[in-house]
Amino acid sequence: MKTTDAGYINKNNQKNLGYRGISETHNNQKFFEMECLDCGHKYMANGCDVWLRKCPQCNPTKTSKEKQLAKQGATTKSRRISNKLRYQVLKRDNFKCCACGASPAKDPTVELHIDHIIPWSKGGETTLENLQTLCSRCNIGKSDFE
Ligand SMILES: [Zn+2]
Ligand SMILES: [Zn+2]
Repeated sequence: MKTTDAGYINKNNQKNLGYRGISETHNNQKFFEMECLDCGHKYMANGCDVWLRKCPQCNPTKTSKEKQLAKQGATTKSRRISNKLRYQVLKRDNFKCCACGASPAKDPTVELHIDHIIPWSKGGETTLENLQTLCSRCNIGKSDFE
């Protein structure tokens, strides 16, 4: 089962209820409805995020892996994305644009950027969860350009 299949449950006990369409306002990302199996809270996540989403309501304690990332300098205090974190985002997103799937491996003119999902200016943190890979084409026009 893929993370984007309806019925998929991730390690944080968050169930993917299925594809809910494309967001016109958010880089044409594919949005999925998620349900927290602990408290029943429902919310939207984009396709890249399904596997790692945590319930915004329960906000469970950080996993050991996340603690480790924090130690490695994946700080939430800075807008700047460290090279290590940048690489982790690219790797998680399979070195592809989250919005259109463009990949430099297939098309050398594709340039990938790391983007804050919730803009830094709106309180979005510089964490693996709040970062996504976008190609320069999809990223153009975003005020929070990285
Ligand atoms: Zn919950
Ligand atoms: Zn793109």
